[in-house]
Formats: sequence, structure tokens, C-alpha cells
Amino acid sequence: MMQKIEALSTWLKEQNIQGAFVTSTANVYYLSGFRCFPHERLLGVFVFQDKEPILVCPGMEELQARNAGWKHEIIGFSDTDNPWEMLSERITDRGITSVDSIAVEKEHLSYHRGMQLLNLFPNASLVSVEHELNAMRLIKSEDEISILREAARLADFGVETGIAAIGKGVTELELVATVEYALKKKGAAEMSFSTTILAGEKSAMPHGNPGMKEIQPGDFVLFDLGVVVDGYCSDITRTVAYQSVSEKQKEIYEIVKKAQQASLDLSKPGTRVGDLDLAARKVIEDAGYGQHFPHRIGHGLGLDVHEHPSMNEKNNDKLTKGMVYTIEPGIYLPEVGGVRIEDDVYITENGHECLTQFTKELVIVK
Ligand code: MN
Ligand code: MN
Repeated sequence: MMQKIEALSTWLKEQNIQGAFVTSTANVYYLSGFRCFPHERLLGVFVFQDKEPILVCPGMEELQARNAGWKHEIIGFSDTDNPWEMLSERITDRGITSVDSIAVEKEHLSYHRGMQLLNLFPNASLVSVEHELNAMRLIKSEDEISILREAARLADFGVETGIAAIGKGVTELELVATVEYALKKKGAAEMSFSTTILAGEKSAMPHGNPGMKEIQPGDFVLFDLGVVVDGYCSDITRTVAYQSVSEKQKEIYEIVKKAQQASLDLSKPGTRVGDLDLAARKVIEDAGYGQHFPHRIGHGLGLDVHEHPSMNEKNNDKLTKGMVYTIEPGIYLPEVGGVRIEDDVYITENGHECLTQFTKELVIVK
């Protein structure tokens, strides 16, 4: 944890930026080991070039921050305190008087909070810290990989549970409830995102919402879910058929599976990220379904369920050991239903490891 703060301090020195105020739950956790959802209250880690960092958090969370291992100063404010004034005093205590730039998460920090910060430092300009933090988070350590592996194992279990619960008249939401109940009993306190289980024509909506639709014979049932383990997310999609499957359904399933394999085959150090998208897209386009694959091939995965790298055809970055991302091609046909197959992939020294491992053979639930 301290290595990450030191790395950020080094970057601040190199860039000649006096401090960074990092406020997103994911990045505060990454830097401090303390994972906190403060609602509307202020949460942040102030990192300096060469002074002790400060954690700002609601006072009632202070003990949890200590338990999480934070050894440095904490500003634990009450609901009637002004945390910005407290922060200003502590920064002055550190002998810092003139500040001309502060690094913040420009995509996260609200305009209101940006203004509060500029009130404290009227001569400062705000610069982005996201690029640096994203680069740090891009390469996962062995410890992070073992957590991600555990999260993926639970995602596999979630899909297995959901498939076993499919039956005539069972609704999408009932399947969601069954899956999440089973996962919570296994200790998965939190899902990575709202569990998506869609049946029949609804499976053709890449981001549809589960509802009271009852599963009918001949439906595709699409499961897209993930869990959070120690702050790290998994994300799996499997599509199965209920009782019977048409030739068309079989055809698009096999194309998506082949497209996913084409991307997986390229998943090794040195490959240009965009080529993974292009390889899968080519399989789908060659089969005549190009216009029915309307999204990128995947996204980076870690503390956030969508993080860097963005797995799109224009990304010229090279795959490197320690990267973790999803590969999730899909074909969505309004009348027939949709198929998506998604795995979590970890780039190893010589190739890759699929963290999610549930079968990709077409399952027809009887
Ligand atoms: Mn997903
Ligand atoms: Mn995904």
C-alpha cells in the first residue's frame, strides 16, 4: 500500500505538482487499503511530494480506516464540521503555503468539490491524476490476481446456480434472486454490477433490465454477472437455451464462440490491444452479422468493473503481463434473441489464463 503512495509522490515530484487529492472509492482503496462508501460525505487521500499523506473520511469510519491498516494522519470529521477547513489547516501545518497545481481525478471529482479545492488554493490549477493511477492499476500483482481468480470462481458458481434454476414459468428476476442468494451464502457480499439475466427476445438487448418475463421453451437465457472480492470485480456472461434451440440460434451461438476464441488466441504479451477486437469482429462480419455486434470486445477489469485498458479496435497499446480484461463478443438479433460469451482474461508471461472457466459448449436446459 505504501509503495503505491510512494510511487505517486515520485510522480508528483517528476511533474512538479505539489499534491494529489484522490477521492474515488476505488483509488482511495488502492492507495490506502481502506474501502469506504461515504455517500455524500467527503472521502479522500491527500498525497504530497515528500510529506506525510492525509486521509480525510467521516469520523464514524475512522476506526475502520485504522483497522484497514492506515498508519498516517486521519481527518475524521463530524456531520457539523467543515472538512475542507480542517484539511486546509493540516496542509498549512505541513509548511505548504504556495500551491500552483493539484492533481485530481477529473472524471470523478464533482465541480462543486473542485471549487472547494480552488477556494483552499486560489492560485492553483487542477491537473489530472487519472492517467497515472490508471497506468499503475493496469498491471496487477500476484496478490491482486489471486483475488481476481477467487472472484471469477464465484462468478462461475453464480452462472452454474442460475442455469440449474431455469424452468418453465420462472421469471428473470426470480433467477436473479436465486443467483444472488446462493452467492451471498458463499460469502460474496457484493455484486460487481446489477445482475443481468434476460430471456427470449430480451436477450438481444446488451444492457437490458431483468423483469417479470417468464422463461419459455425455445428461449435463450443470457446471464451476465460478477461479484466483488476484497474490492476486485469479476464479470462473466454465458448464454444457454431452454428446452430447444433453432438452427438460427445454434448458428449465432457458434459464431460468437468462434469469435471469442479468435480473440483469446491472440491474448499474449506483445499483441496490440485493438487486434483482439478486430479478430473477433472479423469472424462475426464474415458470417454476415457485423451490424449486430454493436460494442467493443471488452474492457479492463480490477477495482472497477470497467477500467483500463479499453479493448477497442483503435487501442494501440500492447498487452503486457499482469493485464486483466474481458473478452465478450455478442450477436443480438431482435426477433431471435442475443448471444454473448464473456470471460475474464489474465495476461501471463507467455500467454493467458482464463479466470472464468464455466463451459462454453451450448447448454440446452431440459
Ligand atoms: Mn458482463
Ligand atoms: Mn463486461
